[in-house]
Amino acid sequence: MTRSETSYSPAGTPAGLAELRTLLDTALDLVAKAAVDRPGPVRAGGPAGARAAADAVLSGPLLPEEGCDPADALTALAGPFADWSVDVTHPAALARMQCPPTAAAVAAEVVAATLNQSLHAWESGPFGLALDRWVIAEFGALVGYDPATCGGTLTAGGSVSNLMALIAARDTTLGLRTVRFAAKEGLPALGVQPVVVCPEGIHFSIQRGARIIGIGEDALRTVPTDADGRMRGDALERVLAGLPENEVPVAVIACAGSTDLGVVDPLDEIAEVTERHGVWLHADAAYGGGALFSPRLRGLLKGIERADSVTLDLHKFGWVPASAAIMLVRAADTLASFGLDPTTCLSADDDTLAGYIGSQNTSLQTTRRVDALKIAVTLRTLGARRLAELVDTCHDLARHAAARLAEHPRVEVPVDPPMTALLFRYLPAGPQDPDAFNGALRRRVMEQGRALIARTHLNGGRVYLKLIMLNPDTTPAQVDAVIADLLALAEELDTRAAGER
Ligand SMILES: *Cc1c(COP(=O)(O)O)cnc(C)c1O
Repeated sequence: MTRSETSYSPAGTPAGLAELRTLLDTALDLVAKAAVDRPGPVRAGGPAGARAAADAVLSGPLLPEEGCDPADALTALAGPFADWSVDVTHPAALARMQCPPTAAAVAAEVVAATLNQSLHAWESGPFGLALDRWVIAEFGALVGYDPATCGGTLTAGGSVSNLMALIAARDTTLGLRTVRFAAKEGLPALGVQPVVVCPEGIHFSIQRGARIIGIGEDALRTVPTDADGRMRGDALERVLAGLPENEVPVAVIACAGSTDLGVVDPLDEIAEVTERHGVWLHADAAYGGGALFSPRLRGLLKGIERADSVTLDLHKFGWVPASAAIMLVRAADTLASFGLDPTTCLSADDDTLAGYIGSQNTSLQTTRRVDALKIAVTLRTLGARRLAELVDTCHDLARHAAARLAEHPRVEVPVDPPMTALLFRYLPAGPQDPDAFNGALRRRVMEQGRALIARTHLNGGRVYLKLIMLNPDTTPAQVDAVIADLLALAEELDTRAAGER
């Protein structure tokens, strides 16, 4: 159907709001229908199935000569999108750190999108700016910083937060050491080789960050971890003390909840070392930051307030849709690298003096969405007691799953999950290589739409499968059913391979 009238109706006008209400009904019906039609967390068919579904729908032009009714466009595109989305609320959706967001968070997202505020200038979103600052200060306090002097920014994710922390660390540490500003003069002018020190198995965004900030990936110095996968203070001390004269350590990255095992480096012990060496300490708590909400798990992050910067993802633990991420610094002025004219950012012009202040001096972005709204609405809705329960429930589910898996004689579970992610691998009785077997097992369950699980490499490149519990609505009985189904398939594949020998 071609629209005859001028088909432009801004959502924020009275007529547009009326249209939005109707369209939201249509949109939510599409989501509801997809959930009913899909037996597992994703449709069966694997990559070929997804591609065929996309080919069937996306054959026409993206920009046809004549537009159509918005309900038709939504049905044509959002319908199959919902249909082939992974259902993050399904008990067998265990692969990725995508939480099922709360309805309150999504409603707040609709408000933010409708009003299309931005944070770069006062006149782009005055209340949004206040909300953004408040959320940063409150999270600063949660981490243990002084809310009056800490700083930070909301970001598009943990990877961006880690990148920003590397930049702040590089410029602050080199500034103290050389009295020069690397962000302005460039690294060659400083005549030193900055290096970043991190434990084995750090998140790959740190490697990519080292590439981007111009020190190079080869400038990562890796600290061997202990039997539990943790970076100990003495091992860090050895690496720092052993650096050649020309190498300046600009940052130590501590893992506050590793993506694979949820392992937390001993932050107090590491801070002792970084403080002694005058090196910036960054705590990557993109995943592990959820422990801050739980009196039971909080102790794991003891010492996090001694880090100079912290990465937190509310789109992992927080039940807020992406993007909802925070990068915090203990001292707000260490974000000078992001100021437009860092050498004069303290010299107030007449607008600044009059309070017309945006946040583009603390961000990689210019236009920036108000992610603070959905975060604040969600936290207010849940409250601290409920939020702690949700985190603890996920932790209980992970321990339950680990215990259940370990009961099977052919399953290896390397560690009891400190957080809510757990690794395991099936050791086939048949002739198959265990790495190939586990890789194929994972692809098979996903292809059949029975479960979504992740994989990783551990202990010298061996393939392990990974389950991540981020859905507190899932029951232990549902976890049992998912595991029973997975192990039944593993046994079937194993027996079949043995028979083929
Ligand atoms: C998920 C994760 C990241 C990356 O966060 P994104 O929001 O996906 O960019 C970084 N570090 C750790 C430890 C993570 O678990």
